[in-house]
Amino acid sequence: MSKPVLVVGAGPVGLTMAAELARYRIPVRIIDKAPARSDKSKALAVWPRTLELLASASCADAFVAAGLKAGAIDIHSGNTTVARLTVDHIDSPFRYLLILPQSETERLLETHLETLGGKVMRGTELTGFAETADGVSCTVRHPDGQDETIDAGWLIGCDGAHSLVRRTLGMTFAGDTLPTGFMIADVHIAGLTIPPADLAIFWHEDGPLMLFPISPGHYRVIADTGSATNPHPAFEDVQAIVAQRGPGGLTLSDPVWLSGFAVNERKVENYRAGPVFLAGDAAHVHSPAGGQGMNTGMQDAFNLAWKLALVEKGLAGSGLPDSYSPERSAVARQVLTDSGRLTRVMLVRNRLTRLLRRLAAHRILSIPAVQHAVADRLAGLTIGYPDSPLSTGSARTLHGPRPGQRFIADSPFSTGNTPRFALAATENTDARAMTERYSPLLETEIRKPPDEKGIWLIRPDGYVAATAHAGDWSVIDAALSAIVTSATATRIPVSA
Ligand SMILES: Cc1cc2nc3c(=O)[nH]c(=O)nc-3n(C[C@H](O)[C@H](O)[C@H](O)COP(=O)(O)OP(=O)(O)OC[C@H]3O[C@@H](n4cnc5c(N)ncnc54)[C@H](O)[C@@H]3O)c2cc1C
Repeated sequence: MSKPVLVVGAGPVGLTMAAELARYRIPVRIIDKAPARSDKSKALAVWPRTLELLASASCADAFVAAGLKAGAIDIHSGNTTVARLTVDHIDSPFRYLLILPQSETERLLETHLETLGGKVMRGTELTGFAETADGVSCTVRHPDGQDETIDAGWLIGCDGAHSLVRRTLGMTFAGDTLPTGFMIADVHIAGLTIPPADLAIFWHEDGPLMLFPISPGHYRVIADTGSATNPHPAFEDVQAIVAQRGPGGLTLSDPVWLSGFAVNERKVENYRAGPVFLAGDAAHVHSPAGGQGMNTGMQDAFNLAWKLALVEKGLAGSGLPDSYSPERSAVARQVLTDSGRLTRVMLVRNRLTRLLRRLAAHRILSIPAVQHAVADRLAGLTIGYPDSPLSTGSARTLHGPRPGQRFIADSPFSTGNTPRFALAATENTDARAMTERYSPLLETEIRKPPDEKGIWLIRPDGYVAATAHAGDWSVIDAALSAIVTSATATRIPVSA
């Protein structure tokens, strides 16, 4: 391996991508056209599944220390609480929603990248690229106006919703823009009586109002404006909407950020064209309802990094990254569906529909099984890859996760400098022989299986690659052998 990977964009997704590649000792360059890191709080939610993956990268502690642990999302109507959704019962080491301004997430990711020897080249813009026989030739413009050609092995477009990489590839960003705009304001609020770490949603006949804690006394205010034009609000507009839709008696001061946004629901069909990949907002954008955008993008990066690293280290065949697009595209499709539904439920105006919404939310969210299912979904714990080409084997009678599902473990997977698969099985000569045969692709430690009648092969990102009945090592052997020898099925040309 000699050519670097070029990551374009140092938002949360590009930074995660570069840090993961640097952790795996893969040469990487990361550029961003902006001269400095953004100070905007944008995405506030870091969900448990993202924290679990950050724990594998040994940097979750810094995030948890910097954030605010929110345990509940409350839905109110005036001064009445309609429903309360808690996340403190989920099966994860992180039983809360971490509230952390995106500017802080980016700062922590950049610090993490720097401890691994990486550095963002700021004020440096990708202006074009073309596929070569063994990679991509990329043209970047430096702050002094000088152009440089970077001969990269892979190009990863983490360059946001207006992605040049996506546009150059000629990929359609299919979807719609909702016919309504939202205002956003980060302000100080006095007089709020709800628990300080709870997220509060107020349903009102004129539209929803959301108050999310950022730090003690400081809140993110989001409200739909009912207008498709998307103006940046004045502070007085924010005060008026909070007085109208909120619980009353609130005093707003110290506006830090006033903005407006439109909701776009779009994604590309394929995240890959030859040696070029898309990740994050470059590949999919959705409503912020449910707070999944940044989390989905960062998880794209975790998914792709270990696959590229194994190929670059010569431990897997070149076909391994083929699974990235189908796996992550299916996840984005689900996020689009869920966040779209949530947004439309929030926006109902009709009196009867609002009444039904209120009754349904109250009844349904008071059922524990529904509480668990909704919390798991928001937390990212139901994400899985059952239809992935990497999910093989079957042992339906076993108690434990199926191929493609997340494996719940006491300690994170693949924390070192090489992405490693893991075995969960009863330790015996056959199990040890398997770890020796596939070293260093397979961890030497054999983990406790959820059912002694089975064997689980777990991917570096903690999802089950294969299951088999105890003793049926041929299934595990075939799954690992397929990783080692996988060849790219088709050469996917860069269309530019
Ligand atoms: C108001 C608001 C609230 C949100 N709330 C949430 C939330 O609660 N939870 C959540 O998960 N998500 C939320 N999101 C979404 C979240 O902010 C995005 O999903 C996230 O920023 C996407 O990260 P990214 O790294 O893909 O792209 P970006 O953050 O957009 O980063 C792209 C980077 O690429 C750089 N770039 C672009 N073109 C080039 C080029 N040609 N050369 C070099 N560099 C380039 C840009 O300068 C930029 O720094 C919110 C978004 C908004 C606007």
